[in-house]
Amino acid sequence: MSRQEWEVTVGLEVHVQLATAAKIFSGAATAFGAEPNTQACAIDLGLPGTLPVVNAGVFEKAVMFGAGIGAEFGKPADSAGMQGAWVISSFDRKNYFYPDLPKGYQITQMQSPIVQGGSIDITLDDGSCKTINIHHAHLEEDAGKSLHEDFHGMSGIDLNRAGTPLLEIVTEPDMSSAEEAVACARAIHQLVVWLGVSDGKMAEGSLRCDVNVSIRRPGDARLGTRTETKNVNSFRFLQRVVELEAERQATLLEAGGQVEQLTLLYDPERDETRPMRSKETATDYRYFPEPDLLPVAVAETYISSIKSKMPELPVARQARFQADLGLGAVEAALLVTSRTLADYFEQTADACQDPMLAANWVKGDLLGNLNRDEMDLLDSPVTAQALGGLLLRVKDGAISGKIAKQIFSDLWAGKFQASDLQDIDGYIKTQGLEQMSGADSLAPIIEQVLEQHPEQVAQFRAGKTKVLGYLVGQVMKETQGTANPREVNDMMLNKLGNSD
Ligand code: ADP
Ligand code: MG
Repeated sequence: MSRQEWEVTVGLEVHVQLATAAKIFSGAATAFGAEPNTQACAIDLGLPGTLPVVNAGVFEKAVMFGAGIGAEFGKPADSAGMQGAWVISSFDRKNYFYPDLPKGYQITQMQSPIVQGGSIDITLDDGSCKTINIHHAHLEEDAGKSLHEDFHGMSGIDLNRAGTPLLEIVTEPDMSSAEEAVACARAIHQLVVWLGVSDGKMAEGSLRCDVNVSIRRPGDARLGTRTETKNVNSFRFLQRVVELEAERQATLLEAGGQVEQLTLLYDPERDETRPMRSKETATDYRYFPEPDLLPVAVAETYISSIKSKMPELPVARQARFQADLGLGAVEAALLVTSRTLADYFEQTADACQDPMLAANWVKGDLLGNLNRDEMDLLDSPVTAQALGGLLLRVKDGAISGKIAKQIFSDLWAGKFQASDLQDIDGYIKTQGLEQMSGADSLAPIIEQVLEQHPEQVAQFRAGKTKVLGYLVGQVMKETQGTANPREVNDMMLNKLGNSD
């Protein structure tokens, strides 16, 4: 596919499992990983004689998300009979048959979803930003799961997930590449975890995307026919789905064919999209207002009380890191990946009074070690206060950057514990790690190294200036890394230049 000839359009429907202890319409538990069919009650199964009751927690989470994207809520209430300001959000019944949905219908929101409009900002790898508009987000119940792996010639059904609350976030078709689609899914993931709306555990299915992809010639006024790939549960798969679909559609169109509006599945093993069914339309689902639930009236005061309790949002924090601390967009975006990381960085920067230095260490050493050891930041053996203290000592010249790395790995390996600057200072002292500087202490060592390496000295004088690094290295070795390398470098140059 010649990329220039086609413009890619992507819209996402992101299903987020809400972090409530109980299900959306019953008191059954939502915990992941229980024995199959032990966590679905009569209401989740829609058995005759049962009635759903809405879990208020799902509205709290949905409103929090909506406030986070600057959305409106529900539909304005008909003022008749209602005191004060209210909005109405109601449920609808979506009918379809599938083995993991024994009720034969899903309760969802079509007419008056709780979250309307809003937008989310994404930062791309080149540091540029783009705003993605959100069409709406609605509440609904999840279905059960069909299990195929452990069964031969049969499917297993686990209904534990039935009735788990979902917020389905529907974007406008505002993304024009795989990279933007991934950045948008990541931004939504970041925000819902940040706000505590969801645990965001993608391996457990807490966030899944339906990926709509179409292509058109640049300049075409209308969007192309789209396909929808269901249940994409990793960012890597999302990237591939957009790439594969754009490619497949371009091949079709270039051969004079047409794109059919299909529902697809992505097969990670074969790295291909496969048709699941032809696209169904809203009428296929025979939507109607859910007769078992009254519309929910949400008070404006309820919405404003949630808004007033919101933490600083990731975009605001990123902007502050850029404007006040002088970080670049990509760096700042990385440091607000999660609230714990942003807090950690900020405490480190506060403790050492040097945001750039803190950013470099958090990005490099800290995240590198966490990655390598597959650890969570919350379990880091190096606290923000300890790292900040360590960096303060680098900054004021008490220790060299190299020694700081050594202390950091000693801390990481549990060779000693430090909760603050005092502990760091104690370790520097007892281990004799203070930076050696000043002509008095360094000059004799430099002298000695030059005497011991006449060959390199001769090479340097013959114009092979690269050996300077080697000689400085010898001084560093001699001082167990405590010498100030810049100072050694300068003094050595001086000596080599003046002493014949
Ligand atoms: P439906 O209700 O039939 O699923 P919507 O119009 O609500 O369709 O769109 C569903 C999703 O598909 C949205 O995320 C939207 O952004 C996306 N979408 C709609 N049209 C296109 C298109 N031509 N190309 C890519 N994505 C699209
Ligand atoms: Mg849809």
